[in-house]
Amino acid sequence: MADNHTPEVRHKNMSHIRSTNTKPELAVRQYLFSHGFRYRLNVQALPGRPDIVLPKYRTVVFINGCFWHHHDCGRFVWPSSNEEYWHKKIDGNVQRDKENREKLASLGWNVIILWECQLKKKTAEERLQRLCAEIKNGAPC
Ligand SMILES: [Zn+2]
Repeated sequence: MADNHTPEVRHKNMSHIRSTNTKPELAVRQYLFSHGFRYRLNVQALPGRPDIVLPKYRTVVFINGCFWHHHDCGRFVWPSSNEEYWHKKIDGNVQRDKENREKLASLGWNVIILWECQLKKKTAEERLQRLCAEIKNGAPC
């Protein structure tokens, strides 16, 4: 059990180190807030601790880094050293993501994944508009 806990903590620490990367997350929050959505953040009680929870719409949003969650977008590259470690680590993340999505769905939550690469300047606006529709079941903001 204690052993099981360590990677989790390490993951947190590493995410934290990379957390100039909360920038995309902030952009998402700002967008939602300015469009009248109200949300809660990092809800511990839900599987996978979703980044943004919109109770009114029974929707959760994850903002995933392309590296940590192995996005098939061309930005993902396996590190060239410690291969075994990274495969275990990243594959574990992917598996956990899948399980969390399934758990959330079975609890009746609508799960939306936003990828870091989609939140780059060029595509962010379009992606966030689509997010509105996804939250509101097709209705625009
Ligand atoms: Zn990506």
